[in-house]
Amino acid sequence: MTLDARTFFSADYGEARAKFLSAAADRGLEHTAYLNPHAKGPKGEDLTIDVAVLGPADARAGLLVISGTHGVEGYAGSGAQIGWLRSTRNANWPAGVKLVLVHALNPFGFAWNRRVNEENVDLNRNFVDHAAPYPQNKGYDVLKSAIVPPDMKPETLAAADHALRSYGKEHGVFALQEAISQGQYAHLDGMYFGGTREQWSVGTILHIVRREFGRAERVGIVDIHTGLGSYGHGEIITEDEASDPRYARSKRWWGDVRSTQSGESVSAHVLGSIDSGLIAGLPHAEVTAGGLEFGTYPTLEVFQALRADNWLHTLGDPRGPDARGIKAAIRKAFYPDLDDWKEMVWKRSEQVLSQAVEALANG
Ligand SMILES: [Zn+2]
Repeated sequence: MTLDARTFFSADYGEARAKFLSAAADRGLEHTAYLNPHAKGPKGEDLTIDVAVLGPADARAGLLVISGTHGVEGYAGSGAQIGWLRSTRNANWPAGVKLVLVHALNPFGFAWNRRVNEENVDLNRNFVDHAAPYPQNKGYDVLKSAIVPPDMKPETLAAADHALRSYGKEHGVFALQEAISQGQYAHLDGMYFGGTREQWSVGTILHIVRREFGRAERVGIVDIHTGLGSYGHGEIITEDEASDPRYARSKRWWGDVRSTQSGESVSAHVLGSIDSGLIAGLPHAEVTAGGLEFGTYPTLEVFQALRADNWLHTLGDPRGPDARGIKAAIRKAFYPDLDDWKEMVWKRSEQVLSQAVEALANG
């Protein structure tokens, strides 16, 4: 039977959740739902992180696959998880390896088509020590009014874009990307805000990994993202220095791996990332972690969609007349709802997950 990859993907969070639970149930996976106590969806619906587990409870090796760390990016990761459940067979699963699928780590962002959560926090910047002084991001401070303009008038946006281009000309394009996206802890209404306390999703995923991988000696992590890189291309991103054994190991698993430390990745090096947090949360395990990042549309288009969405939810009215166009643009920027893109996301995800399972089974 050939499976149609298009059927793995969903039109919204509710459909994605239902498809994920049905695929997990058909395979007999153990399911746990974690209810978000702080927020509801746009129709007043409950929002949950759903976890499905296959394999022995005390496995010494395990694979964690996460979707929706960045809410709206969850369409891709959810499709990959559902495709993986639908296209593999329990009989072929290696006996000593545990599979843990975490669906919609940021269910608020998925349901509302936002990259951030209900507190405007980027979860992939929230894994920092909140008792210590927060890291500074001076570039962001300089650019803050270009990143969060007071309104969406064309002349305001033109001036903001001019300020960003000037910064890029003076300091380089990479420095501009870093200033905007590395994370900041000073502007609650800003973009790439890392939060001023541990977020519910962060506490929940740390609980999940300790619970599921407490006995594991080797853990693979694939966290699926979208929005950076060329259309449909899936880059494996690590944060490890080239000299780190984890970097060499991830290259053995996956071949072409790009480190944010060396400037070879589509991503800037970021503060308080989920990979760093989960690696620290599993001190007894040898962790091999990669972000799987799928390109969508040009960076400027993605940034402008994000900036408008940030404005809508912090200064504008998410239920007002501006909402429809802004929400459609951000959804498209992170989820090209097109057959060729879905096919590329599925094929690449299948490859990356298969490589991880093989490495865990044979290691
Ligand atoms: Zn992301």
